Amino acid sequence: MREFREFGHKMIDWVADYLESPERYSVLSTVKPNDIIDGLPAHGPEQGETIEHIFEDFERIILPGITHWNHPRFLAFFANTSSPPAILAELLATALNANGFIWKVSPAVTELEVVALRWLLHWFGLPRDWFGMILDTASTATLHGIAAARAAIAPETRDIGAPNDLVLYMSDQAHSSVEKGAMSLGIGRRNVRSIGTDSEFRMLPELLVDAIQKDREAGLRPFCVVATVGTTSTASIDPVPAIADVAEREGLWLHVDAAYAGSAAVVPEFRWILDGCERADSLVFNPHKWLMVPVDCSVFYCRRPDVLRHAFSLVPEILRTSDSGLNLMDYGIPLGRRFRALKLWFVLRYYGHEGLAQIIREQVAMTRDLRDRMAEDPRFEICAPAQLSVICFRQRGTDEANRLLLDAINGSGRFYLSSTLVGGRYILRIAIGNMFTSRATLEELWSLLDALVATME
Ligand SMILES: *Cc1c(COP(=O)(O)O)cnc(C)c1O
Repeated sequence: MREFREFGHKMIDWVADYLESPERYSVLSTVKPNDIIDGLPAHGPEQGETIEHIFEDFERIILPGITHWNHPRFLAFFANTSSPPAILAELLATALNANGFIWKVSPAVTELEVVALRWLLHWFGLPRDWFGMILDTASTATLHGIAAARAAIAPETRDIGAPNDLVLYMSDQAHSSVEKGAMSLGIGRRNVRSIGTDSEFRMLPELLVDAIQKDREAGLRPFCVVATVGTTSTASIDPVPAIADVAEREGLWLHVDAAYAGSAAVVPEFRWILDGCERADSLVFNPHKWLMVPVDCSVFYCRRPDVLRHAFSLVPEILRTSDSGLNLMDYGIPLGRRFRALKLWFVLRYYGHEGLAQIIREQVAMTRDLRDRMAEDPRFEICAPAQLSVICFRQRGTDEANRLLLDAINGSGRFYLSSTLVGGRYILRIAIGNMFTSRATLEELWSLLDALVATME
């Protein structure tokens, strides 16, 4: 324990230094494929080594192969934050090593999850009686949503296998995890309909209605629609109230994928982004995307836990207990349950509702300011409405010029932005989600963009 204590203190100091002066690191790792593999021995050590020795190699070999997600100038994909209270909570969770698959094996693991997820429902203005559980990713959560949707229309599936006439709907901007979920569950890609979107990349409900009608006429069974609140490319928000109307009328399960944008609902004036979601059957959002909680932590809510349970519950003799505690293993695929609720609870308490709202509110404000500045500059074009913390833009000119611009930004080592295709056009994305990103950071980005575009003209 002496070594643990000594290095424990040193590593906490290392982490504090890391968070305090990230500018020491290039945001994007510059290693080449296989550098790390070639830099490490082919065989594991016969004899154990000291932490000191291992840590040296962590700094020398591993760290250069890290792209610094927790860096304020990481603005790619959906930037996120591993906040200090969450880092401490993770340390405690690993020390306890509790595996909460059933209530009995660590009541606090289950009950803290229930409490933290209820707090979030309250802050989001969602129905307080929804069932919730934490999963690893939104992809897994969406798969659970689709499985529940199927259990609702075809409860016999768990015994005799899947019917092949069920049809799922999503927009053409939906995340690939929706289709992947359908593939994994044996729904099949041919039974997934990609519904067209409007000029702001939101699902068109009238096209949804048409598609459902066409499928019914063909003798198929529409069963589920997935709406997206905050699409991955442009952070667009599907018209959930209209989609919920259709789902209700047609008897479809409504799953909402709010992986990124859901967190914004902690800000009272942004609660509207979840309008209509109170009518959903299931919903996912990722605190590990925009709520200062490190990966992984994805929150899955379900209005009809009985259906979810029907899809997944299977209790072997070894796990039978006589208490009345909630056994989360009955509601999904995984048996093992990491104590993820601890880091979420630490974050919710440490910042509080107002603290979290203020962080997100300011991030949105600085995003809009940068967007407005770019919109006024004739050299740039804003390609999607930036209502939250993502800007989709292009330098006016060819796709190739924009590719070169992105390479130059990322090649500088100072920022990391990503790209996407929207309406067949190549666009760049600035995603703000790290709590250490400031207006000064964006000022620097603007200077870099300005200088790069000037040299390219
Ligand atoms: C990021 C994202 C996902 C996938 O999230 P994971 O947790 O990595 O599975 C799904 N849907 C949307 C809209 C996303 O933005």
